[in-house]
Amino acid sequence: MYPQSPLMGQMMNQPLLVSSILDFAARHYANSEIVSQRVEGDLHRYTFRDCQQRAKRLANALHGLGVRMGDRVATLAWNGYRHMEAYYGVSGSGAVLHTLNPRLHPDQLAYICNHAEDQYLLFDFCFLPLVEAFAPLCKGIKGFILFGAADRMPAETKIPNLLCYEDLINSHSPEYEWPLFDENSACTLCYTSGTTGNPKGALYSHRSTVLHAYGSAMPNALNVSSRDTVMPVVPMFHVNAWGLPYSVPLSGAKMVFPGPALDGKSVYELMEKEQVTFSAGVPTVWLGLINHALQNKLKFSSFRRTVIGGSACPPAMMSTLIDEFDVEVIHAWGMTEMSPLGTAGGLLTKHLDMSKEEQRKILQKQGHAIYGVDMKIADDDGKELPWDGVSYGHLLVKGPWIISRYFKGEGGDVLENGWFPTGDVATIDPDGFMQITDRSKDVIKSGGEWIGTIDLENVAMSHPAVMQAACIGVAHPKWDERPLLVVVLRPGQDLKREDLLAHFQGKVAKWWLPDDVVFADALPVGGTGKIQKNKLREQYRDYRLPTA
Ligand code: AMP
Repeated sequence: MYPQSPLMGQMMNQPLLVSSILDFAARHYANSEIVSQRVEGDLHRYTFRDCQQRAKRLANALHGLGVRMGDRVATLAWNGYRHMEAYYGVSGSGAVLHTLNPRLHPDQLAYICNHAEDQYLLFDFCFLPLVEAFAPLCKGIKGFILFGAADRMPAETKIPNLLCYEDLINSHSPEYEWPLFDENSACTLCYTSGTTGNPKGALYSHRSTVLHAYGSAMPNALNVSSRDTVMPVVPMFHVNAWGLPYSVPLSGAKMVFPGPALDGKSVYELMEKEQVTFSAGVPTVWLGLINHALQNKLKFSSFRRTVIGGSACPPAMMSTLIDEFDVEVIHAWGMTEMSPLGTAGGLLTKHLDMSKEEQRKILQKQGHAIYGVDMKIADDDGKELPWDGVSYGHLLVKGPWIISRYFKGEGGDVLENGWFPTGDVATIDPDGFMQITDRSKDVIKSGGEWIGTIDLENVAMSHPAVMQAACIGVAHPKWDERPLLVVVLRPGQDLKREDLLAHFQGKVAKWWLPDDVVFADALPVGGTGKIQKNKLREQYRDYRLPTA
């Protein structure tokens, strides 16, 4: 490890454990609320103190079931208070919370559970059929715990050893001392979406999780305070809802969980009812909310700020949120391997006198590194590139909440001289603002030069008739690859290929212009709400571009 100084500091040596976050909220913001849209259909509300008591009951219950430090306990659930109790009851007791994505195929879920060696699985009762489908493939799971009361238990089921969560925790005491242990112990396990090969596990520690919660709550990042009401729309199975189940209690804010209802109308109504001030999610979710609000001529009475990440926030979406709804947009970037937050958007003092258009260009970048994350860009030979806002290269990162290897060493040594290669291609400007031009797998290689697809998609989506756009490289006899634009129009809109291509004139270099446009009814979307370009590439693999 690192050498020790002959003179060590004399501060209390308390390990950074996530249990301390819930204890802090329960003691110092005891009455801050957690409101949940339940799978049962109703709205549930209680306080951080109640959450702590039930998390402790769960910790006692798990101990009774034989779960010990380091054992993996999986969840398959929407965002809600019981899931929150599992976040703390499992990890706080020293076991490892493993969140599963219910949008995955049963075979993939079985692969992940077996790879993680999960011992128990806690799940929302709406996922009963899904659990029935993959439970027989997971022989290592000792028991399945249904998030619900006795009246939700099925009369008959194929699931072996099915337990009722409410009965289980109610038969255990809330008296429980969170154990103290090494802060580097594993805390949660989250698998990457695995678009190539099998999913790989990122195993976060208590230390990395607490530091990430501190770092991400700061003003230059998500800026969460005790005066906020925060709705994590991003699922708790997508990189721990970007750390909000930790950064929100640490800030003492009120939490609102949307449960399974993620359509625009449901999200809007819950936001208004609970006076949500801040939220977080991927662009596809905001698309639904914005469409609902625009179609029904609605405004937000409390919603002031949102973080958008997971894939690039289209500038048109940012403009609508800011100009039509007065909602500040924090464009953020990160990945499963980074817990996930790496950068967050915002303006520096020197930007405040700039025109609105110039400011927008800065806000549209993926943002500035937050303390804890260092980054650099490099060429194919690993040579570092300048921060001039123009040179683009492979983005590499390092920091205490970035993985050093995948769970069980999958994929071998992943670091390059101590840096984690993100697989993204980016520029960094002299002020340190990073902009993703593409995922290296998605970049279009035309005549030896690179064409970034995000720029082309953003131009397409700035056309008023376009709702969604994805750009992919298609084989070309002369240039290797050329861009094909796949577009979904807004309902009731009609647009000709030529008119959309004319919209690109003057906005991108001539040789970047898409060679063709196809109109689709929908784009394939993956388990975390991102457009699946690998599927699109597959679909259009034999597409013949016009040769003229
Ligand atoms: P995941 O681990 O599934 O969250 O995916 C991480 C990847 O999503 C990153 O490596 C990026 O390619 C992409 N991503 C995340 N946030 C953004 C963003 N704001 N803009 C563009 N791409 C993003």
